[in-house]
Amino acid sequence: MVNTQIRHYDAIIIGAGFSGLYQLHLLRDRLKLNCIVLEKGEGVGGTWYWNRYPGARCDTESHAYTYFFSDEIFNEWEWSERYPGHAEIRKYLNFVSEKFDLKKDISFKSEVIKTSYKQNDNKWFLETSDDLFYSSKFLISAVGCISTANIPKIRGLDKFKGSYFHTGNWPKNDVNFEGKIVGQIGTGSTGIQAVPVIAETAKHFTVFQRTPNYSVPARNKPLSKDFKKYVKENFNDLRKTVKKTPNGHAFLISETLVHEVDEKERLKRYENAWEKGGLQFRGTFKDIISDKRANDTASEFIKKKIKEIVKNKEYAQILTNFDHPYAGKRPPIDTNYFETFNRENVHLVDIRNDPIKFIDEYGIATEKNYYNLDLIVFATGYDAMTGSLIKLNITGENNLKLEDYWKEGPKTYLGLQIPGFPNLFTITGPGSPSVLTNMPTAIEQHVEWVTDCIKYMIDNNYEKICTTDKKSQEWGKEVNEAANKTLLPTVKHSWYLGANIPGKPQVFMPYAGGLPVYKKICDHVKNNNYDGFVLT
Ligand code: NAP
Repeated sequence: MVNTQIRHYDAIIIGAGFSGLYQLHLLRDRLKLNCIVLEKGEGVGGTWYWNRYPGARCDTESHAYTYFFSDEIFNEWEWSERYPGHAEIRKYLNFVSEKFDLKKDISFKSEVIKTSYKQNDNKWFLETSDDLFYSSKFLISAVGCISTANIPKIRGLDKFKGSYFHTGNWPKNDVNFEGKIVGQIGTGSTGIQAVPVIAETAKHFTVFQRTPNYSVPARNKPLSKDFKKYVKENFNDLRKTVKKTPNGHAFLISETLVHEVDEKERLKRYENAWEKGGLQFRGTFKDIISDKRANDTASEFIKKKIKEIVKNKEYAQILTNFDHPYAGKRPPIDTNYFETFNRENVHLVDIRNDPIKFIDEYGIATEKNYYNLDLIVFATGYDAMTGSLIKLNITGENNLKLEDYWKEGPKTYLGLQIPGFPNLFTITGPGSPSVLTNMPTAIEQHVEWVTDCIKYMIDNNYEKICTTDKKSQEWGKEVNEAANKTLLPTVKHSWYLGANIPGKPQVFMPYAGGLPVYKKICDHVKNNNYDGFVLT
């Protein structure tokens, strides 16, 4: 029987990943609000609860992929590898949850299916998949930016007799590839991590690539005792660094422009960065992301490296037939990705030249060939940034549906609030730096801003906060201007633009001006009595 009793809270938080956990801690333990987190999964972790695919690991180095708000957590926790694997991140978030006793205020297996603002009550009403009803004054979405998996609509997939999985909804009990003929569609950051691991056990493995992707070696390794000691002893410096770099990482971006050095020096710097590995390759020169000529030098360097690694000349050509600048899409890093194409059990198909036509009971048909398969891996990405918010089925003031309001692309002020949706805050929402940064750093800034804002409202007896259409339009212009100073909007199929989802409006979604600039803007708003928001 459906229990229609409504459970009332001061604040409801949706999602128990990095954002939701920290938001719960601050609202409950600092502001003493009565809060609950509603979480679809059976445990904490957010994106890392669902992303358990082979090779799933964070591309940010572990000493930066961490909460910085608590010295205690930082001192007590120790990462084991240069880049944390998915299981270790879940372990970390469980450790944090236990440390602050968070789980008692999280309702697991509670997917929010309906969210409505009732004007007369100035309250949000929510309905969950477990037939429960909730209401609250404040609503904080902490649903993540890349959590709505996208399986492309390929004709005949429903007929396939083997198994298929999307990497972002990976089964908890490991998938066994041994002796299997496997196909994988998609070679983004995820696909590039999965390929080398799947290839180790699959009998035969076909990778279907549409767009080649630049990748730089991750050079993952267990952390030495000395490095662990260095991290503990330099916590304050690391915290300062992640807060001052544009991407929120613990590495600095060079101040040198590509053409300020001669070719020999340039290649030396690229070579060093390649050997060092990791996302910091893009910081080798200041203008890689902003100047096409500068970018070409990085692109050529990576192309040459791939051609040196991949022995099969046809595969090397397919893997380097780039149509976008390096780091114009989110740049992947890898462990033996290109080397994997030297294995005898691995086959590469260029589906830009031989597109997939359909899937049937036994495999994938392209225009020119047919591939028998036991198992298909979809590493095909996400309805990013807006998908998970729209899925909450949100109705704001005057029965305004979020889906309709965002028909032509997301409109927000600072990526924190949406006009017409009062008292709703969106952690790392579209229009904020989010996915262009090290996520926990961006998350901490947002969660702290939202907490300060709610505290201000309580202290000053305000009941309602909402931004305006005008402000969201002005902010939209700033987001575009920041993006246009980079090469990012020039990339055709980028999910930053929503271009990976057929029919999705194409608007550059994240703020590319860098975290410190963005934080300054947010602080200015806060210090001017939340200028740009209407408080009543
Ligand atoms: P993605 O970057 O969107 O890549 C999706 C891949 O699937 C692309 O190769 C794409 O080809 C292909 N694809 C999509 N639709 C297709 C279709 N209909 N037919 C054929 N191919 C299709 O997704 P992702 O690799 O899952 O990565 C998404 C984001 O998640 C990353 O950019 C990153 O921000 C995050 N991520 C982070 C980590 C981490 O370490 N923290 C790890 C993995 C992912 P096209 O390029 O041609 O569209």
